[in-house]
Amino acid sequence: MNIILLGPPGAGKGTQAGLLEDKFDMVQLSTGDMLRAAVKAQTEVGKKAKAVMDAGELVSDAIVSGIIGDRLDELGPDKGVIFDGYPRTAAQAHALDEILSERGRKLDHVIEIAVDEDALVDRITGRYTCANCNAGYHDRHKKPSTEGVCDVCGSTEFKRRPDDNEDTVRTRMTEYRGKTAPILPIYEERNIVSRVDGMGGIEEVSDALNAILS
Ligand code: AMP
Repeated sequence: MNIILLGPPGAGKGTQAGLLEDKFDMVQLSTGDMLRAAVKAQTEVGKKAKAVMDAGELVSDAIVSGIIGDRLDELGPDKGVIFDGYPRTAAQAHALDEILSERGRKLDHVIEIAVDEDALVDRITGRYTCANCNAGYHDRHKKPSTEGVCDVCGSTEFKRRPDDNEDTVRTRMTEYRGKTAPILPIYEERNIVSRVDGMGGIEEVSDALNAILS
């Protein structure tokens, strides 16, 4: 099974992809995570991507489609994939069709996680993660039970994404509305689109996804 999770920044794609990985023994391919790793490692891709990401704009189609193709080649052909944050433009959607067909794969589902934009800004601008184990927290909605100490691993180091500030989030939303949401009709024509309400709790959204995929 190969699926795409679509939705604006902060819709919960990454969280839900992580849950689906365990439940369906699939692999999450997040271009955002891969790009952040490239920035951290200061690779050529990372150097090109950093300023664009900090501004909340989109990295070039060729770069992201290239890294997706490379990652798929590292996976066994039978491993199902959850695309998280890719494709984000019509050019990427067409590139993905080719990338999949060259590897004997096909898309089974495209699931849009629908959310209210103002609530998203509140969600995103408060979020942070444990620097050691990546557990997710939020300034207002999910503080660690002991202030400053990770509930999962006990670390006292936390980090925030540099692009999780209000201005950049608004730009990321505009990019989503202008370039990513318009690719839905490509998949609607193939009758593979489903929608879930992303404003519920993590478990509710997860149940809705499981119902679609089971
Ligand atoms: P994300 O973690 O998915 O929110 O992505 C963080 C940032 O990485 C985005 O704001 C873009 O700058 C860049 N990015 C991630 N995925 C893509 C993609 N498929 N196409 C272009 N830029 C991307």
